[in-house]
Amino acid sequence: MTKWTNNVRTVVPYTPGEQPKTKVIKLNTNENPYPPSPLVGKAISSVAMDTLRKYPDPNCSNLTAAIAKYHGFDTENVFVGVGSDDVLAMSFLTFFNSTQPVFFPDITYSFYDVWADLFRIPYETKALDSQFKINPADYDKECGGIVIPNPNAPTGIAEPVSFFEDIISKHPECVVIIDEAYVDFGSQSCVDLVRKYDNVLVVRTFSKSRSMAGNRIGYALGSKELIKYLSDCKFSFNSYTMDAITLAAGVASIEDDEYFNEKLKAVIKTREWTKQALTELGFTFPDSKSNFIFAKHESVEASYLFQELKKKGIYVRYFSKPQRISNYLRISIGTDDEMQKFINELREIIKGV
Ligand SMILES: *Cc1c(COP(=O)(O)O)cnc(C)c1O
Repeated sequence: MTKWTNNVRTVVPYTPGEQPKTKVIKLNTNENPYPPSPLVGKAISSVAMDTLRKYPDPNCSNLTAAIAKYHGFDTENVFVGVGSDDVLAMSFLTFFNSTQPVFFPDITYSFYDVWADLFRIPYETKALDSQFKINPADYDKECGGIVIPNPNAPTGIAEPVSFFEDIISKHPECVVIIDEAYVDFGSQSCVDLVRKYDNVLVVRTFSKSRSMAGNRIGYALGSKELIKYLSDCKFSFNSYTMDAITLAAGVASIEDDEYFNEKLKAVIKTREWTKQALTELGFTFPDSKSNFIFAKHESVEASYLFQELKKKGIYVRYFSKPQRISNYLRISIGTDDEMQKFINELREIIKGV
């Protein structure tokens, strides 16, 4: 007789960045260094206890309406979930059901291959070129779907809308997902392609630009037909994905556009001087349009810098695999003060080698 373990769905899970309990300078998971809008705090504290007794709104109507209004869409064009990870996982399940492989870059968000494995979706990765750029010709073949982050992670490189329109227009046979987790930090958004093509899904998150990683809010914009399919799958899995407190918090964040833009500007400004400081220390990096910099030092190994920085209480992200990126550090943008301390420590470490 076969053993029950033969019938288990075994997967190699995604490894999230460390969340240390001690106070450190945390530049390892691309969180926003600033708190969410004060309106978010007010909204959370005004959720009545009686609200928690009841199930939350399964349609997440208020949040969906706020997001729709923000982007100039109808509510039927919006799908919300527990972070964009939830939205992306549900999208893989809903749209990637072909026997043909799904395409995504070889160096990209490392959750894509995990979901593909989990859902048994065939996939093929497409190698970035020597400058870590996506070669659009790699995506020319008929396929089961395409998913690309813009800007890409962990490189931070952004492509213009025309780049994606070219790919989308060639693929009426599948759904193309653009993961815009970092788009607010200064690159072009593909949301307008949603108005033109019924097979494009743009996915966004509140975790980075809206400083709300702890709340877990993500959303997708797509044609009404696409969103309906996504919604049907969600309601076949878990009707109440988002809790009442988070729903209120999300609406409040969208309503405070002034605060949002002010903090975006601050992160971008810090990123730009950090680029300059890193260059002066002998680092090279692709030009980042996100809230992180993917950098390599001319002589000191990334694994060594990673360890030494950690000893000083500064956490950055280091990926030992694949080998092509094993000499890079992904450095999230913190406050000016945090980045100054980071640069100073880095200077000392390099000097001591
Ligand atoms: C952070 C990130 C996500 C997930 O964000 P959540 O909304 O926190 O789940 C998705 N895609 C990319 C490329 C990311 O960097």
